[in-house]
Amino acid sequence: MINVTKTFLPPQEEYNFILKYAWDTGWMTNRGVLVKELEHKIQNYLQSRPIIAMTNGTLPLQIAIKALGLTGEIITTPFSYVATTSSIVWEGCSPVFVDIDPKYLTIDETQIEASITKNTSAILATHVYGNPCNVEAIDRIAKTYNLKVIYDAAHCFGVQYKGKSIFDYGDVSTCSFHATKLFHTGEGGALFCGSKHYDTMFYHHNFGHSGKEDFKGVGINAKMSEPQAAMGLAVLPHLENIMAKRKSIIDHYNLGLSKSLNIKLLNIRPDTKWNYSYLPVIFDTPMLMSKVKLGLEKEGIYPRRYFYPSLNTLDYVNGQNCLISESIADKVLCLPLYHSLKLHEVKHIINVVKRYL
Ligand SMILES: *Cc1c(COP(=O)(O)O)cnc(C)c1O
Repeated sequence: MINVTKTFLPPQEEYNFILKYAWDTGWMTNRGVLVKELEHKIQNYLQSRPIIAMTNGTLPLQIAIKALGLTGEIITTPFSYVATTSSIVWEGCSPVFVDIDPKYLTIDETQIEASITKNTSAILATHVYGNPCNVEAIDRIAKTYNLKVIYDAAHCFGVQYKGKSIFDYGDVSTCSFHATKLFHTGEGGALFCGSKHYDTMFYHHNFGHSGKEDFKGVGINAKMSEPQAAMGLAVLPHLENIMAKRKSIIDHYNLGLSKSLNIKLLNIRPDTKWNYSYLPVIFDTPMLMSKVKLGLEKEGIYPRRYFYPSLNTLDYVNGQNCLISESIADKVLCLPLYHSLKLHEVKHIINVVKRYL
């Protein structure tokens, strides 16, 4: 069986060696040595602004919304994972959907201004598949209308835009370290922000503690634990190698599929150093997508409809029509992509796809 993804597991002795520290010290959580070391190593590796490691990639979104004091309407993208929208609703705000740019699949920045009302407090956009939003345009709009900007950068570990970590953009950027993501800690995630917001975000992720017996505002528990950090510390040294393997797999897919006329592959925005995180293929029609999906499944290959459904169609939102996002969600499949996928398996997948094109 070939699944859409496969979690990279480091050699178990490498994980055990790091985890032994937690046993030796008897320290399992509350920002121990391993969490601090992971934060330090990630910030160093990415050359990014400060990071707060968290227990998953959804809580940083909720904490950002809460701690920035957002209320009313938040302008957001319909083409993302459900956590982008559910976090807005969970925090008592209303998502206002702006359709996506058909070329880059990120929020269409040219349509944002028309959706701003006196109740708009922020823009929450996703760098989907690790492809950056038009961050300059979004920044300009946010400044003009005095809005906050949060980027859901769950897919973006290692991505740079214009020579800077993509996590350096927006008031806050978040990432997911879920086992299905490029870099992972089993479950895990992070929030990145500048010094202006750092303390507030930090207090919020640890019950509001500003000292042992002091509190600043309401908080929640989003702390990463030591075993999670140990996994991250064991995976991080392998990341360059993982990305190189994925690049070579994607090069093969591109070579095999780019001449096919009834599909489109991902366009990466110029000035981006991408991280080879996903392999979305957009078919010309939903029917063609279904045929290819069934054909692959018959061969024991399991692609994923990622992202489906378009989030403006969720039954708990008052979703505006987003024709492009809805149409792409109906036609997109992510093909298998992971470090240990063999090139002969990639060839086989390409051949099965081509059989239906
Ligand atoms: C994975 C993902 C999340 C949620 O991250 P978790 O770590 O699973 O909580 C949020 N947004 C997007 C776009 C994602 O792909």
